[in-house]
Amino acid sequence: MDLNDTPEQAEYRATVREWLERHRAEAPVLEGPEAITDEQELIAARRAWQGKLAEGGLAGVAWPREYGGQGRGPIEQVIVNQEIGRAGVPGILDAIGVGMLGPTIMAHGSEEHKARYLGPMLHGDEVWCQLFSEPAAGSDLAAVQARARQQEDGSWRLSGQKVWTTNAQIASFGLLLARTDPDLPKHNGLTMFIVPMDAEGVTVRGLRQISGEAEFNEVFFDDVPLSAEAPVGPVGGGWRTALTTLMFERVTIGLGSEGLGYRADRFAAAIASDPDARRDPEVRRRLGELASELLAVRFTGYRTLTALQQGQTPGPESALAKVTLVNAAIEAGELVADVRGPEALGEGPWSYMISFLPGLKSAGGSEEILRNTVGERVLGLPPEPRLDKGIPFSELRARERQAAGEAEPATATQGNGAGAGAGDAASGARA
Ligand SMILES: Cc1cc2nc3c(=O)[nH]c(=O)nc-3n(C[C@H](O)[C@H](O)[C@H](O)COP(=O)(O)OP(=O)(O)OC[C@H]3O[C@@H](n4cnc5c(N)ncnc54)[C@H](O)[C@@H]3O)c2cc1C
Repeated sequence: MDLNDTPEQAEYRATVREWLERHRAEAPVLEGPEAITDEQELIAARRAWQGKLAEGGLAGVAWPREYGGQGRGPIEQVIVNQEIGRAGVPGILDAIGVGMLGPTIMAHGSEEHKARYLGPMLHGDEVWCQLFSEPAAGSDLAAVQARARQQEDGSWRLSGQKVWTTNAQIASFGLLLARTDPDLPKHNGLTMFIVPMDAEGVTVRGLRQISGEAEFNEVFFDDVPLSAEAPVGPVGGGWRTALTTLMFERVTIGLGSEGLGYRADRFAAAIASDPDARRDPEVRRRLGELASELLAVRFTGYRTLTALQQGQTPGPESALAKVTLVNAAIEAGELVADVRGPEALGEGPWSYMISFLPGLKSAGGSEEILRNTVGERVLGLPPEPRLDKGIPFSELRARERQAAGEAEPATATQGNGAGAGAGDAASGARA
């Protein structure tokens, strides 16, 4: 996004650029012959680099100063993302913590939570993970079944399973959505908790992706003890707390796309070295189409930035931008692969991009859910029917089990979320 910088923004950009030039040599190298290959070493180097960025004021740019941030706006955050991309150095390691979970703690946590957790999070001393999704609660997030029970002394015991948890293998803490009252309708009986990942009864199992990384995990909780201070926001008010995280998730993905390098000029450069491809009308048509999609995403990004800068919540246009961006980038990956052949699928950034992108279709709201959002909130189409409204969660589960049992006795106890999920997701569950 080429921002038309005001004089103040141009001055800020120059300061950021100068800092990055001065410290570039300290950044961990992720690609090429010098790249750090040992996973532990890489994580340690990226944490240290996040600490440096925080000291230099390049992490938590939009966080309030009282929590160690810079108290600046989203435009300055985008400027920093752009300059980090331009300098060719990695950004912060804990984008989920700093971008989504920290702001949730600021909005709903106690003063003790803020004093204890925000500083180490910002500096990369303690990495965080988002423990929301479960096998039967993804798009339909309010269907979570992880169960927390309060004890007589006010402490809690947690049991259940989460899945697709990015960074759980390196996290010190997780922000977890659990059911605390199954007798209430599903959005009402939820509570958000801070969970120490080294607590007794927490098991993290890695899931390796086609891109080669193992950044995802399944996480199991077996009667995990949590303190009376673990809830973030009111007990039973977890859905509202979760909505704050999801709002920041959308903003983080939207503003962070700058740093992902999905730019038409980069894609054009990747195929320009092939003289036949350069002249091929079909290649030119495909490149032109995706370039215009990316241009539309850029201008939609301007609208989102303007809304954020004015203190407004971004509207459903960011859903459309995410869908368009991911599909244009997938199309670009296919074009590069068609032109460069198997070479594009060897080691290197194209291979990584091609194998990583399909996952982005689901992350931060799946394509179908986001299209439903656009259909309902932009085009004014009728909402999907909600079959679960006002029904206690426990009863919903029983009905689901009964329906599943009638149809397929072997899977009766598992439940697949399809009944409750299909009705609720479009009403804004995950999107
Ligand atoms: C890269 C990546 C990182 C992630 N990191 C995390 C993380 O750190 N923490 C975390 O908690 N989660 C994480 N997730 C999980 C992510 O939030 C979920 O994948 C997402 O919410 C979709 O849920 P699901 O995968 O269970 O799919 P489901 O909800 O089971 O959906 C399956 C398919 O059905 C479609 N579908 C579902 N409901 C409807 C409907 N009503 N109408 C039409 N179609 C529908 C979906 O669009 C999708 O295509 C991550 C996912 C990815 C890919």
